[in-house]
Amino acid sequence: DTIGDNLDRTAARFAEREALVDRAAGKRWTYGQFVEVVNQLALGLLDADMGKGDRVGIWAPNCAEWAFVQYATAKIGAIMVNINPAYRTHELAYVLKQAGITMLVAAPKFKTSDYAAMIEEVRGDCADLRQVVLLGSAEWDSLLARGSHGDPADLAAAQANLSCDDAINIQYTSGTTGFPKGATLSHHNILNNGYFVGEGCRYTEEDRICIPVPYYHCFGMTMGNLAATSHGACMVLPAPGFDPAATLKAVQDEKCTSLYGVPTMFIAELALPDFADYDLSSLRTGIMAGSPCPVEVMKRVISDMGMNEVTICYGMTETSPVSTQTGANDDIETRVSTVGSVHPHVEVKVVDPATGLTVPQGTAGELCTRGYSVMLGYWNEPEKTAESIDAARWMHTGDLAVMDGNGYLNIVGRIKDMVIRGGENIYPREIEEFLYSHPDIVDVQVIGLPDEKYGEELMAWVKLRPGVSDLTAEQVRSYCTGKLAHYKIPRYVRVVEDFPMTVSGKVRKVEMREVSIQELG
Ligand code: ATP
Ligand code: MG
Repeated sequence: DTIGDNLDRTAARFAEREALVDRAAGKRWTYGQFVEVVNQLALGLLDADMGKGDRVGIWAPNCAEWAFVQYATAKIGAIMVNINPAYRTHELAYVLKQAGITMLVAAPKFKTSDYAAMIEEVRGDCADLRQVVLLGSAEWDSLLARGSHGDPADLAAAQANLSCDDAINIQYTSGTTGFPKGATLSHHNILNNGYFVGEGCRYTEEDRICIPVPYYHCFGMTMGNLAATSHGACMVLPAPGFDPAATLKAVQDEKCTSLYGVPTMFIAELALPDFADYDLSSLRTGIMAGSPCPVEVMKRVISDMGMNEVTICYGMTETSPVSTQTGANDDIETRVSTVGSVHPHVEVKVVDPATGLTVPQGTAGELCTRGYSVMLGYWNEPEKTAESIDAARWMHTGDLAVMDGNGYLNIVGRIKDMVIRGGENIYPREIEEFLYSHPDIVDVQVIGLPDEKYGEELMAWVKLRPGVSDLTAEQVRSYCTGKLAHYKIPRYVRVVEDFPMTVSGKVRKVEMREVSIQELG
């Protein structure tokens, strides 16, 4: 199936059921209405001379129109390019040029970002960019109006001309470890992945999925939208940007059965002063993913949010994204402490990065994945593609993992974040997990800093419980003494309000290191 054909099938089966709720706009669509808008927009795009292979950029926070553009471009075979809502002119110009975007659909503004002004500023430099359509403007209305006069046969013909192996989407990686890379994905890649993620959550048309994670990122558009539409479930958008209170309110008011988030989002929701006042009893499942999921947080998601079937997913943009997921039937300990086992039709192996040989179970090594879900490649960057996907089609993830005797995986960290202190390999994740048990610490991130004597030294950035104003390195060290090996005890502690984050909610340790190195001189 292509994404468009799959949507048509769902819309035919579940025409009367709710497909999408945009809480900020106060609007809702049934599947029948949703596919009608999508078709209208698709015809409008055809009329505006967009077609198979053309790149259409989308630059907006989560909103219903984002989803319309996603499915309308998929119907005509245009390649949608997701643009990070946090971008500024330099980065915007970079993706417009790098992806050769000919039409850009954008929100006029978001929070303090004036998108319209930024687009005007860079437009002159971007030769390919022929059309800019601001959401809510006359151009947007006219695109839909032209579509409503279009001939459905033209759309059917465009749709019939597509193959499920065509590139349909360029999704940029989060930029956690450096500059984001544009993963080129096919219908086959992301539609199947969305479907299997939905199977992992046991979705049916009864489910209502609360999606506070950004659409620009695979977590929102694939694990959210495609998982929903391939199962006839409903997509609920709580707010344009992440807002913990609006998220829980949406779960309560919309009776959501599933809630998504990266760990920091769940931490923020659980820490709301009025957390106990929300009625979250409709929640059955959900997904935590994107970065290491602390065991304590998972346990609270189950006990305090009632997400008894919550799953953890592991994956990366380049693999559509999900490669492993915990099962709804796995026991609690497995579900909170591993990233699950391999997804259907995907292969994984754990190798020694130096030799490329598979390591024994129980030993850490680089995780490699292979299967339908591996991207077509990085857009226009064949060298980078060749660095990540080897001749046997294995994707080298850059993540360190350990597989247990039952085939369950544990992600111990990124190769780039591993700290080597005095010759000892240290996985910051392990220390973070331990420090979560400190009564005054609500969130913690551990990094390695260059050190003359040991090569590297550990630093912990900590967020404190409300009401606690300070925590010294001595206090943290004495808390660790006797419980962690001496070389794993952080030398430095920095109390912070926030960590530097990507829009997809990941902590940018690169930036933490830069800041700390500067501070320490
Ligand atoms: P960039 O590649 O630009 O540096 P990124 O790797 O964060 O950014 P994504 O594709 O959004 O971009 O994220 C994939 C990465 O997120 C994985 O390689 C892994 O490091 C991390 N990750 C995802 N899920 C999990 C999980 N459940 N547990 C631990 N880490 C995870
Ligand atoms: Mg990555």
